[in-house]
Amino acid sequence: MPMHKLLARQIEAAQSAGVVDVSELVRLVSVTYEQQESDRQRSDRSMALMIEELDQLNRRLETLVEDRTTALREREGELRDQNLRFDAALNNMSQGLLMFDHAGRVVISNRRYLEMYALTSEQVRPGRTVQDLLEMRAQNGTFFSNTEKYVETLLATIERGDTFFRLVDLPDGRTIAVCSRPMAGGGWVVTHEDITERRRAEKQIAHMAHHDPLTDLPNRVLLRDRMAQALSGIARGERLAVLYLDLDHFKGVNDSLGHQLGDELLQAVADRLRDCVRPSDTVARIGGDEFAIIQTGVAQINDTAELARTVGEAVRAPYELSGHVVACDSSIGVAMAPDDGIEPEDLLKNADMALYRAKSDGRGTYRFFEPEMDARMKARRALEVDLRDALAGEQFDLLYQPIVGLADGRITCCEALIRWHHPERGMIPPVEFIPIAEEIGLIIPIGEWVIRKACADAARWPNDVKVAVNLSALQVMNQNLVPVLISALATAGLPAQRLEIEITETVLMQNADNTLMALHQLRELGVSISMDDFGTGYSSLSYLHSFPFDKIKIDRCFISGLPQAEDSLAIVRAVTGLAKNLNMKTTAEGVETQEQLDALRALDCTEMQGFLFSRPRRPEEVIKLMRDDSGKKAANG
Ligand code: C2E
Ligand code: MG
Ligand code: MG
Repeated sequence: MPMHKLLARQIEAAQSAGVVDVSELVRLVSVTYEQQESDRQRSDRSMALMIEELDQLNRRLETLVEDRTTALREREGELRDQNLRFDAALNNMSQGLLMFDHAGRVVISNRRYLEMYALTSEQVRPGRTVQDLLEMRAQNGTFFSNTEKYVETLLATIERGDTFFRLVDLPDGRTIAVCSRPMAGGGWVVTHEDITERRRAEKQIAHMAHHDPLTDLPNRVLLRDRMAQALSGIARGERLAVLYLDLDHFKGVNDSLGHQLGDELLQAVADRLRDCVRPSDTVARIGGDEFAIIQTGVAQINDTAELARTVGEAVRAPYELSGHVVACDSSIGVAMAPDDGIEPEDLLKNADMALYRAKSDGRGTYRFFEPEMDARMKARRALEVDLRDALAGEQFDLLYQPIVGLADGRITCCEALIRWHHPERGMIPPVEFIPIAEEIGLIIPIGEWVIRKACADAARWPNDVKVAVNLSALQVMNQNLVPVLISALATAGLPAQRLEIEITETVLMQNADNTLMALHQLRELGVSISMDDFGTGYSSLSYLHSFPFDKIKIDRCFISGLPQAEDSLAIVRAVTGLAKNLNMKTTAEGVETQEQLDALRALDCTEMQGFLFSRPRRPEEVIKLMRDDSGKKAANG
């Protein structure tokens, strides 16, 4: 309201009875002024508040904008980094990579792809089609199928949403795995991977898994595969043969001439075997010195016998290896399909059984499988199982057979001979179970039992009677032999001079260093050592020189023909003469008749052992015999 109106109103208000009350007017005016002043102040305050609020809002907006800008800047940097990384990754990939859009045009390609197919980035620039690329490759010789057909199948596969995969063999020998995968928004990604090295390595690994590294022959695994394959395709009336071949005395070659030469021999044998067979046959090495041959398409058994003979002769011909002439022979076992089995396992098992027979028939020969071999082998296995329980079951016993001096007819020694009382099969002679015990290593504990029992029994005999114990080669090679013998003698209280051990040539044939060492140690203790079964081995005389034996036991086979057999007479005479010169005693084994005894006396033999004097006897019987013997001596003396 304009001032004058306000004043007029106040003057009016100050007029009482038509007179202006000045003081009232002044009061009214001052009130008005005061009121106006407080109004103004109020509006000033609210203005200030508003300005402050606006200010704050502004500041907040500013920081918000600032924050957003930095975030954007960071994001931009990240994207740039990411792009760099993506580029680096793309171009450093070991695979070639292409990306096509929904229209089938190149979007991205990497360096590796260009290198793989000798293309330039210009040739593979974005916008090119698969067809373009393939045509360029066809031109530079890195693609050689029909391009149209390839593209057609590729596009159809991608359209179905499936992956398109091809292994491509390039003319330069490379193998490329090409894989095209459809993308979610249309288009597809292709990877090209050079798998040449991997394939080569895989092939090599597969070869190694199926071949023997030394001879490069198929191994047991591949042999089995080939057998299964050949067996499944076996024609009616046709047969398949499996020849299982084992080199005779290969271990000897290895031990005496060294592993290097042993390896050379195996390689030479492998070469000869390869030469013996037709391309459709398989030669495999299935163990140290074991080989197998599969002969396919056998019309007659004779074909196989012929092959076995050829192989035998081929292996037998002398070898010249690094300046050494090496001789080697083989034993062969043969099984035929379908006659002897139609499963690889059965055939190998039966051929192995026939091989076992070839070996026990003197080696250097071949044998065909016969069903009775299986029966025998089973019986043998059963015996083996029972033998493992025999020691704990106290089924062994020792008998003693006296050995008498030919000059005075007195007992000088008794030989301990083991017996096995089988709970069901009765008495089993040592020739039947000792070889099994040797083969499965049981001869060590059984032998120790014999040593301890023999020493304990002998301790009860007259002081001038010795006890003789037979030892197997395995026992003599065993490190524990000397300690066991010392302990047995000490436990029994038997002087070492009253113990004799008998070994055969096979002990010395092992050619082990510790064999001779153990024998010398025993001799130093006072134990005497006899060469048993003399004349049945190979080169007996040389073994007589390799160790100073105390006694030679002439084998029964030379005694049984006496006195008529001229050759036996000559041999016995030669041995007794030799023994005398070498200061050794001689014992004739298996003397059964008075005539034999008389002949031996004339031949200057020192002692005899045999049924003529006594069979092997039980410990108490032999003691009685010795007592009678002592009585005789007292009467004579
Ligand atoms: P060996 O050591 O040559 O023992 C002599 C064998 O000839 C014994 O056979 C004996 O009974 C037999 N014999 C003795 N006199 C005559 C005879 O006048 N006529 C005939 N026909 N035979 C006679 P045995 O007891 O069957 O032992 C056979 C082989 O078994 C022994 O031959 C020996 O090599 C081995 N052997 C026996 N006991 C043991 C042992 O405890 N340990 C080892 N490792 N081998 C043993
Ligand atoms: Mg003996
Ligand atoms: Mg003997």
